[in-house]
Amino acid sequence: MVITGGAGFLGSHLSRRFVRAGARVVCLDSLVTGSAANVRDLLGDPRFELVVADVTEPWSVPGPVDAVLHLASPASPRDYARLPLETLRAGSAGTWNALTLAREKGARFLLASTSEVYGEPSEHPQRESYFGNVNPVGPRSMYDEAKRFAEALTTSFSRVHGVRCGIVRLFNVYGPHMSLSDGRVVPAFIGQALSGLPLTVFGDGGQTRSLCYVDDAVEGMVASCVHDTGGRPVNIGSDEEVSVLDLAALILRLTAGEDDTGPSGGRPPGRTRDPDASHGLGDQVRHLPLPPEDPRRRRPDLTLARELLNWKPQTALRDGLARTIQWARDAR
Ligand code: UDP
Repeated sequence: MVITGGAGFLGSHLSRRFVRAGARVVCLDSLVTGSAANVRDLLGDPRFELVVADVTEPWSVPGPVDAVLHLASPASPRDYARLPLETLRAGSAGTWNALTLAREKGARFLLASTSEVYGEPSEHPQRESYFGNVNPVGPRSMYDEAKRFAEALTTSFSRVHGVRCGIVRLFNVYGPHMSLSDGRVVPAFIGQALSGLPLTVFGDGGQTRSLCYVDDAVEGMVASCVHDTGGRPVNIGSDEEVSVLDLAALILRLTAGEDDTGPSGGRPPGRTRDPDASHGLGDQVRHLPLPPEDPRRRRPDLTLARELLNWKPQTALRDGLARTIQWARDAR
């Protein structure tokens, strides 16, 4: 199989998962945001090959290919704001090339899409039938619209050329091997907490995300390669929604080695603390301005994933964060 972006955070986990299952994996990565260090343990394995190439340029892979998984793209808000044209090319020309390879090889195709296609959602939780609320010229548009175009292209290749396609919409995946400097909330908070720095909470911290541990996302993608979804997009994520301020508090407790009663600190699920109270975190957090058009709420409806893929997330937020913190400690 071919995994574009296979040396990135999620791609490297996916590459490892498939190699361990006995598959031969060709990982195509430009290493612009990915890193060979993410797949160092696989480099000596005869079933694994790292090809350093840009997915948006012409490329091919010799021999039979049974599946093409297209993940190549900058994925953190900091990276795609820094690389807007590269991000749009990865979603457009890159997706075109990856689909063309799948077509030529008669391979299955899986697109790694994103919850960002829903933009600032007016429906909560988000079902796949929701069309989204995206500003096509906004500060996140290079990523959101690239992925929306990639979904449209995938759908058209399936209709016109009969390529067997799947689309997964991934919601805030986190875990070991995330770049500690890509600016996303989990690596940012963990890095800051381990360094004894205040956690940079953007805005009042009342905005929510539903964080999916990487092993769960990988199994969701594996299930998407096995089950035929008829080309329908499927949400992959966790339905454990947490405010950014609650997340900060949880990471501070976990890095301090304190036992915890859960992400909400013992409150009923779905209830967040009054953001004005700042959790009594005092100078352990530093509030910075909320980036423009930062989505206020995000949580996937996972009904379709359960029905079509027989998949649901298994890892509680606290457990996934504890594993990620342990990895970050070891990596320092
Ligand atoms: N965030 C934050 N502090 C940080 C990084 C992110 O408060 O240092 C917030 C950000 O404003 C957003 C949420 O955390 O509301 C998730 O941000 P991330 O960049 O991880 O992913 P997004 O869901 O925005 O793509």
